Amino acid sequence: MYWILFISIALISWLVSYSLERKFKRYQQVLLPLTGHDIAVRMLRENGIDDVQVTCIPGQLTDHYNPATKTVNLSEAVYQGANIAAAAVAAHECGHALQHATAYAPLRMRSALVPVVAFASNWVMWILLIGMLVINTFPHLMLFGIILFAMTTLFSFITLPVEVNASQRAVAWLRSTGITDNHTTEMASDALRSAAYTYVVAALSSLATLIYYILIFLGGNRR
Ligand SMILES: [Zn+2]
Repeated sequence: MYWILFISIALISWLVSYSLERKFKRYQQVLLPLTGHDIAVRMLRENGIDDVQVTCIPGQLTDHYNPATKTVNLSEAVYQGANIAAAAVAAHECGHALQHATAYAPLRMRSALVPVVAFASNWVMWILLIGMLVINTFPHLMLFGIILFAMTTLFSFITLPVEVNASQRAVAWLRSTGITDNHTTEMASDALRSAAYTYVVAALSSLATLIYYILIFLGGNRR
């Protein structure tokens, strides 16, 4: 019966990314006098952050803040775009820079898990696969894989408050500066809410997979 859950999650995940893409296309049509780059530079400066650089990177939806290099990395469409969608994303990434500057606790917890998650992303599938094969002789390997996988699940859940908080900071700042009015603030917040749903689906999907492995482990161990 578990496959029904996985198919549902895949379907929901597809719907969420489809709706996100449509919303971004729509809000890219609502023009602003400032580009994503201008907005990022201004938001950082007005919040007293002068050691973070704003750079342009290739790709679509590749926008992110890198705490290691202190850079707000914006994709070309956001960096050069002068519209609501670009403004929302640029301000959201600066929201992460603000979290970093103010030592926002969930971001610190998330950063602490990064090395574990980096290790897990390379090895966890192999460990679980081999663990399943040797479950009767050496169950500890699968147990180790499950603990490792649980860390990645925890990571995807800690990501949720970090993302929501960055969006709240973004929307509040855009509104306070008058860059967006009541109408366009709602658009920015709608675009960011859509983006947050992708993280919710990813976290739930990770949790479902974790439970699935735990059930296999309990079943295999009983034999
Ligand atoms: Zn984010």
